Amino acid sequence: MSYNVLIVGSGGREHAIAWKLAQSSHVREVFVAPGNAGTGVDATNVDLAQDDHAGLIQFAKNNDVGLVVVGPEAPLVAGLVDDMQAAGLRVFGPSKVAAELEGSKVFCKNLLRSADIPTADYQTFRSPDDAMRYIKDRFTEPSDPVNVVVKADGLAAGKGVIVCENRSQALDAIDRIGARKEFGAAGKEIIIEERLTGPEVSVLAITDGETILTLPAAQDHKPAGDGDTGPNTGGMGAYCPAPVLDEETLARVESGILVPVVHAMKRSRRPFKGVLYAGLMLTPAGPKVLEFNVRLGDPECQPLLMRLKTDLAEVMQATIDGRLGELDGLEFDERPSICVVMASEGYPGEYEKGHPIKGIADADAMENVKVFHAGTKMVDGNVVNAGGRVLGVTAMGDTISAAKLQAYKAVAKIRWQGAWCRKDISDKALVSVSAT
Ligand code: AMP
Repeated sequence: MSYNVLIVGSGGREHAIAWKLAQSSHVREVFVAPGNAGTGVDATNVDLAQDDHAGLIQFAKNNDVGLVVVGPEAPLVAGLVDDMQAAGLRVFGPSKVAAELEGSKVFCKNLLRSADIPTADYQTFRSPDDAMRYIKDRFTEPSDPVNVVVKADGLAAGKGVIVCENRSQALDAIDRIGARKEFGAAGKEIIIEERLTGPEVSVLAITDGETILTLPAAQDHKPAGDGDTGPNTGGMGAYCPAPVLDEETLARVESGILVPVVHAMKRSRRPFKGVLYAGLMLTPAGPKVLEFNVRLGDPECQPLLMRLKTDLAEVMQATIDGRLGELDGLEFDERPSICVVMASEGYPGEYEKGHPIKGIADADAMENVKVFHAGTKMVDGNVVNAGGRVLGVTAMGDTISAAKLQAYKAVAKIRWQGAWCRKDISDKALVSVSAT
């Protein structure tokens, strides 16, 4: 039996999911709401916003949609999955109460602490004044080096986390979140946590609340500049697998972090179904959780899905039905994959939109390359940039170096006014391989 699919979202992650699901023998047509210029080619765009729950439900019911996939965190935290399920639809993604794991860092930290899962020590504050007093009592001189990270509780598009070098920065961070309300309602509660050190790695798993299928580790590149310098972004590139996480550590992450989190969610009557994404720091004392996300990461999703051989529609349907344990696990292509994000000039700050983009078809025609669109739009027959992160140029190769070479060859074919990218995506993999 085949059916249509509706994917909610408009980024590189949703383009990659659409591309993968379109390859399934179970899937007739893929719709993406609202989508981007790339999903308009590989699927059919639907002009509905991700917060238009009634419109999305109506569309799915009228168009024989047998699987809905909610890509981004905001509609998950807003309860889109619950509303769609109540309307009788089959939806992949966690419920509203389960999505709190990402929607509230305070909830997440308290759950981790209660389940004895390794994470940075922390304190939570409802009052910015109390948070200020805590910092002033702990660090007496303004120039005292501090080892804290200040975080807003709620969703802040990846920006509500401020790593602090000294006392003034910590006080300013509290002021920005608590008093100046830079992150709006997300800043109602503040977390101050111990600053950890070590390489960062993402481990993603698909779970139906009982069975956990772990994906190969991936590594994102958050800072804008080569060598991890400059301001933080939504992610400038990723590669997979990440050799920094060896088999033994991955097994430790599964048994010491993923399994206990899924159990703790079940115990707190928030059974978790969907993608569980652990942002980890490999500290000298072992892997510790920085955060949990409740959906595929963007851009980690692009190299992961390029390598996935198992039919994604079957995996998602089995997750919805609680039958993941009946599958033979997940199969991945042996070859590594990397995604290089091309961004608009000025990103992550202000940037201009509307510049025509050339060369995408040439890059896409290359062997083992797929150009996933993020911030793009079709205007008068031209693809133009319409967001900060514009394209995720993704390639696979026999080795990580070969994948890197192929991805950057594809990048070189694409141009628009002000386009830029990091030049060192996946170099960390090469360093850790040569170090072992
Ligand atoms: P989060 O959204 O909580 O993952 O934080 C975003 C980024 O801030 C992470 O990718 C880390 O680079 C950094 N970060 C968050 N928490 C800590 C911590 N406790 N120690 C050091 N760096 C952190």
